[in-house]
Amino acid sequence: MATESPPLGMRRVPLAPRTLEAYVPIVGEDVIADIQSAARPLQGARVAHISATERGGGVAEILQSLVPLMRSAGLDAEWHIISGTDAFFTITKGIHNALQGMPLVLSPEMQSTYLAVNRANASSFTNDFDFIVVHDPQPAPLRPMHGVGRGIWIWQSHIDLTMSDPAYWAFMRSFIEAYDAAIFTMAAFVPWDLSIGTVAIIPPAIDPLSQKNVPIPDEQVNRAIGAQGVDPFRPLLVQVSRYDHWKDPLGVIDVFRAVRPAVPGLQLVLLGALALDDPEGLHYYQRTLAHAEGDPDIHVLMNVGGDLEVNAFQRRASAILQKSLREGFGLTVTEGLWKARPVVAGNVGGIPLQIDDGVTGYLVGSVEQAAHRILAVFGDPAAAAEMGRRGREVVRHKFLSTANLRNYLQFFAQLRPTH
Ligand code: UDP
Repeated sequence: MATESPPLGMRRVPLAPRTLEAYVPIVGEDVIADIQSAARPLQGARVAHISATERGGGVAEILQSLVPLMRSAGLDAEWHIISGTDAFFTITKGIHNALQGMPLVLSPEMQSTYLAVNRANASSFTNDFDFIVVHDPQPAPLRPMHGVGRGIWIWQSHIDLTMSDPAYWAFMRSFIEAYDAAIFTMAAFVPWDLSIGTVAIIPPAIDPLSQKNVPIPDEQVNRAIGAQGVDPFRPLLVQVSRYDHWKDPLGVIDVFRAVRPAVPGLQLVLLGALALDDPEGLHYYQRTLAHAEGDPDIHVLMNVGGDLEVNAFQRRASAILQKSLREGFGLTVTEGLWKARPVVAGNVGGIPLQIDDGVTGYLVGSVEQAAHRILAVFGDPAAAAEMGRRGREVVRHKFLSTANLRNYLQFFAQLRPTH
């Protein structure tokens, strides 16, 4: 029987409530009071966040907490996702890659699919919002397609655009310059030729109260790890990431192979989920599996990474790797630091915002450097633990959802000072 595909349109994501007060024990009363006062001029403001997917990847991770916290602060916030066809998400992944520096041919047909899907979504969007925050390239054309109307439109980029293919950046720029404002993770990512009203720098954040980040008892950690066929009592390297060229899972396996002779019993876990907007994931997962060559101590896990599993593996890791070759920010780094683990990560994109090399973790530029730093962690566990503790404090001050919320409130107030 032929199945009819549903019409393309936007959908609101249901969210569990969160309360700001619950964060007092973690960040202190002053931080929460500061947020409440920043939210005062914005009470009742209607906010829509729009992104491509409700699961998988950093943007979904951020919005799950940010939107309920905006509500707790008195704003009327919602999260909407666009819908798209497989062809659309293949094209947007290509655009994403090209914006990070990979070659791409975007044919006129591909452009027209990208625009047609956005047009269908734009026509289903009822705009009765004061602030509309559109995340990343997938839904970027919504603003120019929606025409004039109420609200302040903000485009937020979570990508490192410094190596963008100029042709693709020019293509995206034509949509983005229709917005009133833009948000980037760091100043270095703001393209020199972007002409837009206002720009803010807001780094992403993690939620310390989410299932992924709350403390969990040791027995539960052991059970979650054991259930995946991994020995919770042997040394463990962990990388939690989509299977993707830029996350370098093949390089992670090479690092493991380089250090294994010096660390008896060492195991490696690669934990990756398939994001709905990432059609390349399966292909890259298969390449990673092939590179592991059936080694029983290399666990290439796919779609077993519920929040509890991610939490357990990060918590138990002897060291966390994030061997990215490009990275907008790297929430997995933040998650590892928050669990006070030694983190060894690529010196790219937003990662150096989080890691001060040798102080709160290690920044590396090659398999050899990563292996060298992993050996340092095993060689001096006390120093590594101290480094992890310092990393946790950096996250507490700068990269929790409370800090994220405050940054948005300040930016909204700046954009609409007279409300
Ligand atoms: N993640 C997950 N399960 C997995 C792989 C990743 O929950 O199997 C989560 C990870 O914990 C993090 C997010 O997906 O919260 C990835 O965000 P990041 O900024 O590191 O990378 P992105 O995927 O956005 O490039």
